[in-house]
Amino acid sequence: MSQNSASAVDDARRDAVRTFLEAHKDEFVAQLSEWIRIPSVWTDPERRDDVQRSAEWFAAAARATGFPTVEIWPASDGAPTVFAEWPSDNPNAPTVVVYGHHDVQPVDPVEQWSFAPFEPAVVEGPDGDRLLGRGASDDKGMVLYHLFGLRANLAASGRTSPPVHLKLLIEGEEESGSPAFPELLRAKRDRLGCDVIVVSDNGHYAAGVITTCVRMRGLTDCQIDLHGPDVDLHSGSFGGSVPNPLTVLTHLLAGLHDANNHITLEGFYDDVAPLTDVERDLIARLPFDDAQWLETAESRATFGEAGYTTLERIWARPTCEIHGVWGGYMGPGHKTIVPTDAHAKVSFRLVANQQPLDVQAALHAYIAANVPDGITAKVEFFGDGVRPYLVPIDDPTVQALVRALGRAYDDEVLFTGEGGSGPEADIAEILQAPLIFLGAGLPTDRVHAPDEHAVISVLLKGAETAAYLWDELAALPSV
Ligand SMILES: [Zn+2]
Repeated sequence: MSQNSASAVDDARRDAVRTFLEAHKDEFVAQLSEWIRIPSVWTDPERRDDVQRSAEWFAAAARATGFPTVEIWPASDGAPTVFAEWPSDNPNAPTVVVYGHHDVQPVDPVEQWSFAPFEPAVVEGPDGDRLLGRGASDDKGMVLYHLFGLRANLAASGRTSPPVHLKLLIEGEEESGSPAFPELLRAKRDRLGCDVIVVSDNGHYAAGVITTCVRMRGLTDCQIDLHGPDVDLHSGSFGGSVPNPLTVLTHLLAGLHDANNHITLEGFYDDVAPLTDVERDLIARLPFDDAQWLETAESRATFGEAGYTTLERIWARPTCEIHGVWGGYMGPGHKTIVPTDAHAKVSFRLVANQQPLDVQAALHAYIAANVPDGITAKVEFFGDGVRPYLVPIDDPTVQALVRALGRAYDDEVLFTGEGGSGPEADIAEILQAPLIFLGAGLPTDRVHAPDEHAVISVLLKGAETAAYLWDELAALPSV
């Protein structure tokens, strides 16, 4: 989408921001390298002290940047979140919470790395110099650039406080699924009041294709257990005359989709926000090739809900997948029984505005209505599920971000979605504010994988975008 109103950042301001960041590039790399050397793997109980040290490292960096309030908040399981706050001297400025995380993924299998994960180094890559190391991209690089973006903003404007009331919220257990983080958010809600949340923990669609994410799918998953006869029965003496739980299970699972791959659960699509023509057109403008994508997927064919493209299916449509089915005799040779039990693991990816608990109720109702006499069924969901998230592309905060990205990259800005699921919907719900994504990763960064790295110039573009975004948000009539 092209910018539909003038940027609040003029050319002189932009030059000054760029000059600042160019002059401080080595300092940025040196600081990020120091932080990467702290192996903050919260998942590993042996590394918990390192995660604490990582929190203290960032807290010190935020203080050195000028944040007058910096605190470390332990969650109930001990994972340290860093909170930093710097009010604007403009009392009417909007309040922004920047969310990121300072814990990192484990490095296993460490033998697959071509360098030591916690000994950062700069090497040349196809997109420019790269900083190697676990967390270089996800998420220490993207958190640290906020400090440099803010410094660039202040240096270029001559201000002594940010143009927005700025709060940083950098959690310590994101790579473990943030088990205690929502509870911490609720407990600290009075400190976290805001008009907009900026998430920096993702990236662009591709090198040279500037995007921001506007939707994430939700998730709910379960195990289904069916029980038939109390003992395995001879299929000659009993088969065809008592219900077979595996046959029933396969019928139930097959019945979850119709011939067009629509999901059949009652009311399943009632709350699904339909894709607009504008959104479909914007998705279609991203460079995407089914054949190339199939190579990555190592699959021979695309498949899915009729009437939608692959990207639309992944980002904007709900799905149901069967992950495993087992029961009865699974050993070598033959054993002709009617088995006692049948099991399956099933999940649903959800899109706005579906609610995981509604989908759970619909599956319970479907199973209850379709299990014959003689079979007992148990459906157990793993928790309450993750809600989907969507921010409209015409939301003023999204448009402010589009202007900031457009200024930083001198390029058109497009929109992506995220097929996976994260805590974003919960954060937006608890803090009652729209949430936008300012990331500066590339899909080639190998996040979560061996040989993670970040392209230094791309991280600095993240800093530059942040430097503009605060001015763009401050210029909105009201957020
Ligand atoms: Zn991350």
